[in-house]
Amino acid sequence: MIYLDHAATTAVYPEVIREMTPYLHDYYYNPSSSYKEGRLLHKKLDQIRTVLAGGIHAKPQEIIFTSGGTESDNWVLVNAARSLCGKGRHIITSAIEHHAILHTCHFLENCGFDLTYLPVNREGFVAPAVLEKAIRPDTILISVMYANNEIGTLQPIRELGQIAQKNSILFHTDAVQAYAHVPIDVSSTPIDFLSVSAHKFGGPKGVGFLYAKEGTPLSPLLYGGAQEQGRRAGTENVAGIVGMGCAAQLSLEHMTEYAGQESSLRDHLMHRILSEIPMTRLNGSSQKRLPGNLNVSFYGIDSATLIAMLETKDIYVSGGSACSSADQAPSHVLHSIGLSDEMALGALRITIGHENTMEEINETFENIRSFVQKLRQIS
Ligand code: PLP
Repeated sequence: MIYLDHAATTAVYPEVIREMTPYLHDYYYNPSSSYKEGRLLHKKLDQIRTVLAGGIHAKPQEIIFTSGGTESDNWVLVNAARSLCGKGRHIITSAIEHHAILHTCHFLENCGFDLTYLPVNREGFVAPAVLEKAIRPDTILISVMYANNEIGTLQPIRELGQIAQKNSILFHTDAVQAYAHVPIDVSSTPIDFLSVSAHKFGGPKGVGFLYAKEGTPLSPLLYGGAQEQGRRAGTENVAGIVGMGCAAQLSLEHMTEYAGQESSLRDHLMHRILSEIPMTRLNGSSQKRLPGNLNVSFYGIDSATLIAMLETKDIYVSGGSACSSADQAPSHVLHSIGLSDEMALGALRITIGHENTMEEINETFENIRSFVQKLRQIS
């Protein structure tokens, strides 16, 4: 099997499984229990908080465990709407966000909030000047993703955050695709909230965290017990959090090395596709993109068919994002960067991980070339 869909999810590292197992088996206690076993687990969770915080130069108390990217994203938007509706009812985001943001925005619109969806250019960038123009006296939150899950574009987060800070507006970034893949530093970048999900960097699914800058207003999304200093109720997913901590440690330690490996395989495949298969186009930026992300459109091809053909060879890639793969409509991201329906429906997202090899990349290329040729002959 050749797995090239690492933006959808990653394999859990064997070290992570080993580290997690005792927390399902032996240390099954509740970290809120007052006896020794509970206290020890509580301490373990705080150690992990320190590791996760270190990865973005934050303070441990600024890390709140959640069930993943979707919860963290929902929380930030709903929190702003609830806590700051007295100040204003305008929220700014980008047109290419993940549905965890966009669908929450649609919900808030139905509740009477006013949303601005910033356009992006052909490479998928939000222009800082466009953000500046969209700000109004009643703007309460700006949310722009760190890296896009379909085309991999890395936004100018520092500039965007500085604009938010200059205007005293809270700034959130969805860093689900970026954390532990590219360096993030909240001590030098004005970010108030940041969302992370463990399954995108070798950790388990259903666990993640929200970074919330100290002193930033944050009311609970979930009500109940006093976990996470009363900010997020619910018994902690101890084994999941342990796994996330271990995966973060490994991924952060090897980030530069893995990014180098992934981007060189990505560039090799990109070069071969664009130079050896006619009528192809790169989607996203050629420079500022996630190391493992390649998104290309094949003119006249339905990528759903191409994906199914590659599957017969045990090669796994995707079209739009996995979350919208049941949806045959062209991706909102590809539309936003100006692709026609035809080019958007012909897009293939190939996301490379550090375990992939040059042999796998070349084999994938040969199969893509032969299937594209076949499909074009038929049509
Ligand atoms: N945000 C982005 C950019 C994503 O890519 C994803 C998942 O693909 C999510 C949010 C949702 O994260 P989770 O799967 O942890 O809910």
